[in-house]
Amino acid sequence: CGIFAYLNYLTPKTRREIIETLIKGLQRLEYRGYDSAGIGVDTSDSTGMNLIKKRGKVKALEDEIASMESILDFDKVHNTHCGISHTRWATHGVPNEVNSHPHRSDESNEFIVVHNGIITNYKDIKKFLENKGNKFESETDTEIIAKLIKHIYSQHPTYSFRELVEQVIQQLEGAFSLCFKSVHFPGECVATRRGSPLLVGIKSKSRLATDHIPVLYSKEVEGKHVIPDHRPVGFEMPCLPRVESTAEFHTSNENEEVE
Ligand code: GLU
Repeated sequence: CGIFAYLNYLTPKTRREIIETLIKGLQRLEYRGYDSAGIGVDTSDSTGMNLIKKRGKVKALEDEIASMESILDFDKVHNTHCGISHTRWATHGVPNEVNSHPHRSDESNEFIVVHNGIITNYKDIKKFLENKGNKFESETDTEIIAKLIKHIYSQHPTYSFRELVEQVIQQLEGAFSLCFKSVHFPGECVATRRGSPLLVGIKSKSRLATDHIPVLYSKEVEGKHVIPDHRPVGFEMPCLPRVESTAEFHTSNENEEVE
């Protein structure tokens, strides 16, 4: 259980370099223990997303990726890109490829998410989304997050990516660090956490580069959430509190037992 994301605006990179960075990030998380691994990157024409997931070691994922040369177009250069990746330690649903992360909103991968933690009210949200016609493919608690953000996007198409994520986490109970990516917001990545840890590292030629990093983080000052000053080195992302749910989502008070 670890999430890793990589966002680059400064230097054009080949897909091989982007994927290598994601794999290296996962290798650094291997010590935490896991049963499967996966990555989500833009397709080489940048119109969609490739999800590659594998049960077992990061090495197995790496080998799978190496065998996908024709699909992944390793030499293609991206000026701006964002990739997300995950090592899973299953809490809901057996370790297999479908249950591995990233999870997706729909078959065309409009929104994808990686998650560390447990969503305790996922059953209620799942029921709500099923009633709206969503079909679930995995047994995880995480998949509801990918489908919920698409549902909110369909209701509020003018929201920014960050606003959508803010709406999503207002509905979630439990512990999470999350990282989102979407075809509707190319080159953007939104990360957030409550309970689970998340670190942000920024490598930039100037402090100004941090202005372009659309990461969700906030800090409570006198009851209000504000964006803290830029910090050009790695920092721990402040924890976002649960906001009382007012929307149509039914939430339960009973904490589900952790499997
Ligand atoms: N609860 C999620 C799952 O079972 C995430 C587990 C983790 O933190 O790796 O897929």
